[in-house]
Amino acid sequence: MALSVVDLYKKILPQTNCGDCNYPTCIAFASMVVSEKHPLKNCPHLVQDVLDRCEIELEEQYAEGKWLKKDPAKDALIWAKERAASMKISDMAARIGGEILLHEGSEALLLPYFNDKIIITDSTIMDKDLVELNQWEQVFVYNHMSQGGSVYPTGNWKGLVEFPNTISKQKSMKAHVEVPLIDRFLGKVDELKERALKIGGIDRTDKIATCSAAFFFQPMPKTPVMLIFWDESIDDGFDADIKLQFDETITEHLDIESMMFLSERLRQLLCVV
Ligand code: SF4
Repeated sequence: MALSVVDLYKKILPQTNCGDCNYPTCIAFASMVVSEKHPLKNCPHLVQDVLDRCEIELEEQYAEGKWLKKDPAKDALIWAKERAASMKISDMAARIGGEILLHEGSEALLLPYFNDKIIITDSTIMDKDLVELNQWEQVFVYNHMSQGGSVYPTGNWKGLVEFPNTISKQKSMKAHVEVPLIDRFLGKVDELKERALKIGGIDRTDKIATCSAAFFFQPMPKTPVMLIFWDESIDDGFDADIKLQFDETITEHLDIESMMFLSERLRQLLCVV
C-alpha cells in the first residue's frame, strides 16, 4: 500500500515535532520523504521493522513516480537522451562538427560551444573541466545531436518571424532576449562590442548599414547567429532595437524551442558582468 504524506504523518511518524530530522514539523518531514525521496531513516525515532516496511512501500511508489515532485528538466533530459540514443558518437563529427577524441577509453565528441568546448560521451555532456552541463543545456545539445543534419549554413539570414510556427515564440524572444539586451546596452555600444568580442563574437558592424553594432556568433559549428543592435538616436527620434538573425538552415539543426534556448543563452553570456 502506498504511503501518502498524510499516511506517513498520521500512521508512522511520532507527531512530536521534535526537529531532530532538521525539519520543524513531522508533516514537513513527511512531505519531503514522499515528494522528494528524503530518507525516512533521518527520523531517528522509528523502530527498525517499521522503517524497513515503510522503505519497501516508499521504493515501490517512487518507482511508479507516485506523488513525486516533478522535475521538468530531468524529464526533458531523459526524453532528449532517449531521442539521441541511436546516434553514434563516431558519426557525430561529420553531422554536427567537432572532432572525435578518446575519453576514458571510449570515443567522445569535442564540440565548440559558444566561446568554449564541450565533451559529449555516450552517457553525458561535460565542459572541458569535466563538469556536467546543467540539465537544460544538455537537453539543448542532445536535441541538436538528434536533429542536426549535414547541411551547411548558407550565410542567408532570417529573423525568427520568418520561420514557420514561431508566432508563439516571438513574444518570448522579445521579452526574454531583445528587451533585456536593449536595457543592458542602451547607450553602451562600446560595452556591447567588448562583451561580444569576449565571448567569441566577430565584429560585422561594417557589413550592415545604419546599425550601431553587428556581431557574428557561432554557438555550435552549424548554428551561427547574427546580433544586430541599433542604439537609441534622440536626434533622429529612433528608439533602440536589437535583433537576432539565424542562418536560413537553422531549422535543419534545431527545433524552435532550441532556437529560443540558444538565444537566451547568448543573452545571458552577453549580459554577465
Ligand atoms: S525527527 Fe521524527 S519526530 Fe522529530 S520532527 Fe522529525 S519526523 Fe517528527
